[in-house]
Amino acid sequence: MNIHEYQGKEVLKQYGVSVPEGRVAFTVDEAVKAAEELNSSVTVVKAQIHAGGRGKAGGVKIAKSVEEVRTYAGELLGKVLVTHQTGPEGKEVKRLLIEQGCDIKQEYYVGVVVDRATGRVVMMASEEGGTEIEEVAEKTPEKIFKEVIDPAVGLMPFQAKKLAYAINIPKSLVNKAAKFMISLYHAFIEKDCSIAEINPLVVTGDGNVMALDAKLNFDSNALFRHQDILELRDLAEEDEKEIQASEYDLSYIALDGNIGCMVNGAGLAMATMDIIKHYGGDPANFLDVGGGATTEKVTEAFKIILSDENVKGIFVNIFGGIMRCDVIANGVVEAAKQISLDRPLVVRLEGTNVEIGKRILNESGLNIVAADSMADGAQKIVSLVK
Ligand code: ADP
Ligand code: MG
Repeated sequence: MNIHEYQGKEVLKQYGVSVPEGRVAFTVDEAVKAAEELNSSVTVVKAQIHAGGRGKAGGVKIAKSVEEVRTYAGELLGKVLVTHQTGPEGKEVKRLLIEQGCDIKQEYYVGVVVDRATGRVVMMASEEGGTEIEEVAEKTPEKIFKEVIDPAVGLMPFQAKKLAYAINIPKSLVNKAAKFMISLYHAFIEKDCSIAEINPLVVTGDGNVMALDAKLNFDSNALFRHQDILELRDLAEEDEKEIQASEYDLSYIALDGNIGCMVNGAGLAMATMDIIKHYGGDPANFLDVGGGATTEKVTEAFKIILSDENVKGIFVNIFGGIMRCDVIANGVVEAAKQISLDRPLVVRLEGTNVEIGKRILNESGLNIVAADSMADGAQKIVSLVK
């Protein structure tokens, strides 16, 4: 789960990570009031959306007066911001962070991630702050330094200092930077983050080390033990279909293609997406209905797929192991009854109760194209949507 920058900064503050003083604003008046309270010679007006790259896209404005804050807040609120992370449709700005301007001497990058290769938490740091870290990794990978963290002892002070020296933090501020990194690590661990990224971390004119940006992502499997974090969820930033899916405990991820997929098991779901691609198609979603899905759950899944206007056809690919084929078939028929099914449907069923499942589909009167295998089904749906 993702949260906004201003919320991330509040969380980090609890762990002693220093951040500029700031306030959230939902309206122009609130922005002006916040700026008056901050009473800073320079105030920064920052669009709050769940995407980075706001600076380049005009979502971060430096205001020299309260009047300028008013102007910028008016411009940004309600604006659809298109950044390299939002996709071409962009995201509407509904909240702003009004923040004290910071006298930046130098920008750096610090990130905490889970590294699959080592199976450990890794802290990464770079002198190339402010720019996209993906770009640094591609063009100048030697400028990214990493410390693998032993979970038994956590990030050790010597490791943090090593990173601080490696990225050329001024000598007099190395201890402060190390403390910053250790605090960031504690926040990451205690809040069950999957990413904690500070880009930029800055060194200021008056000798401070601060987080000017904060991107925190949380492991959704651990949210049950972080009620405070769960409360920060902003549903307006999430895909409506994904929210609906999460209510029914379905693993659904919306994608850009036009072939809706209904599959059981994450492995089969990925293989299905691959085979659709292989035959020249594009999946519209990843969907794992899970092992013990009920007819109701399958119905809901089917409705979610159909509510996507980009979907030109559906491929149901089920291997009935724990999941029974007749349950899937009933769900498909039920959903098709509730919403008129106006798009081609290819079904491949295999496994437990497959004969009953096929009979239910055959007797339903629905226009269903049966497939003998995964490859056959993928080819059929790809040609049907073309
Ligand atoms: P994004 O990563 O979405 O572009 P950032 O929060 O990193 O947004 O802001 C972009 C840039 O704006 C920063 O690299 C920094 O140079 C500047 N900036 C952001 N916040 C402040 C601030 N409080 N004071 C001064 N400059 C800021
Ligand atoms: Mg940033």
